Amino acid sequence: MGRDVQTLVIGAGISGLSTAFFLRERGVDVAVVEAAPRAGGNIRTEEHGGYLLEAGPNTLLDNHPAIRRLIDGLGLREVAREANREAKRRYVVRDGRAVPLPDSPPTFLTTRLFSFRGKLRLLAEPFIKPVDYEESVASFVRRRLGQEFLDWAIDPFVSGVYAGDPERLSVRAATAKVYALEREHGSLLRGALKKAWAARKAEVRTGPVGQMLSFERGLGQLTDALAAALGERLFLSTPAQAIRQVDGGWQVETPRGMFDARNLVLALPGAAVADLLEPHVGEAVNTLREIPYPPVVSVAMGFRREDVAHPLDGFGVLIPSKERRTTLGALFSSTLFEGRAPEGQVMLTAFIGGRRHEEVGDWGDARLIERVLDDLGPILGFRAPPVMTHISRWPRAIPQYELGHLERMAALDTALAGLPGLWMRANWRDGVAVSDCIRNGWALAERLAG
Ligand SMILES: Cc1cc2nc3c(=O)[nH]c(=O)nc-3n(C[C@H](O)[C@H](O)[C@H](O)COP(=O)(O)OP(=O)(O)OC[C@H]3O[C@@H](n4cnc5c(N)ncnc54)[C@H](O)[C@@H]3O)c2cc1C
Repeated sequence: MGRDVQTLVIGAGISGLSTAFFLRERGVDVAVVEAAPRAGGNIRTEEHGGYLLEAGPNTLLDNHPAIRRLIDGLGLREVAREANREAKRRYVVRDGRAVPLPDSPPTFLTTRLFSFRGKLRLLAEPFIKPVDYEESVASFVRRRLGQEFLDWAIDPFVSGVYAGDPERLSVRAATAKVYALEREHGSLLRGALKKAWAARKAEVRTGPVGQMLSFERGLGQLTDALAAALGERLFLSTPAQAIRQVDGGWQVETPRGMFDARNLVLALPGAAVADLLEPHVGEAVNTLREIPYPPVVSVAMGFRREDVAHPLDGFGVLIPSKERRTTLGALFSSTLFEGRAPEGQVMLTAFIGGRRHEEVGDWGDARLIERVLDDLGPILGFRAPPVMTHISRWPRAIPQYELGHLERMAALDTALAGLPGLWMRANWRDGVAVSDCIRNGWALAERLAG
């Protein structure tokens, strides 16, 4: 027997769950089907040996009103946790040592992260003209800010967000806000100063640079609450196997029977969308299969406090590719949020792999841990082996918005134009951050319910 629903969302990651939440808030009849036996997708909090660890994302950036609405609408305000103030300090490795990233003009002048020449080069930025061809993140930064800024600031930042390669990522698609500063203000420095000034005048805390958040029981508390709010309208272990266009909407085939919906939202990774759409638009879906999703492994490690020499007084440490290590960096997880490690112990979460080290996807656990310890040990001063390790593998971790991404998305939109009632909302376009997924879910709900 089929089930009728106004809107069916396929995929219960944060994109699908938040789209469903905002639709229901507007009185739309929604159901969600999810292939896995649990909701949350990439968001997964686990307890292991007294530690509370994140297998996937660790933080949610509160940079849009939709995020507050979600937290308040779910009644989670009391358990929401802002990152420790110390988390404003971020370390970047240069010449084997963790150096704090400068966060003010005086610290910028004195930092050893950039040479005097590198610092002077930044002064030229406001006078550099935009170009009219698509650039990689690397080429854009090299042109506007110089090679040193690319090597010791942007390269590690791109690793931290995308586990990506700045030579291949498109500046327009992957770092749209930075690109917009050049377009709108002719200069990144001028644009950033104007924005900071405007935010100060408006006294907003939810701005482009918001607070880093999690919850008392980790990010999983958010997706658990979203799943609980859906109740019986969430169908777990229910993969969508095929979709068909029918009179007045869409029909979705699952092992638990058919669903009929006027609107269908595919909140799925690129390849899963391609499988469902192929019968409808043919080869046009290959563009989704071709989006690179390099593997990333997240390695949580617990140490006795006295066995780590570094004060761990910050968000974490990023390792630029110039330092020639496989590990991309590590979060100081137990500094970021309280209650993550047992008394007298600390937890680090290292990330290894990404676009430049796809080979790690084939490595065994022992080799992964050994490499992470070899890479981070000399930087953070490990005096004894970890007392806890936990590995989370992401064979297809984060979609890469590489050169040509926006053109490929536009071509896909053209191919899909003849399929009314079909919508897509996932991290392979318009932002990979959890906050982007929530903001995009909110925008789609406005559109569908409006
Ligand atoms: C290791 C790692 C660390 C990260 N760190 C951060 C961070 O600190 N901060 C941050 O903001 N972002 C971070 N991200 C990015 C962020 O987690 C993701 O971009 C985001 O969670 C993606 O959500 P989504 O709903 O779009 O996709 P997904 O989470 O992939 O959800 C898609 C869902 O669709 C389901 N599905 C697939 N096929 C079918 C089918 N046929 N039928 C039904 N269901 C199906 C899947 O099971 C899955 O549940 C990180 C990502 C990774 C991997």
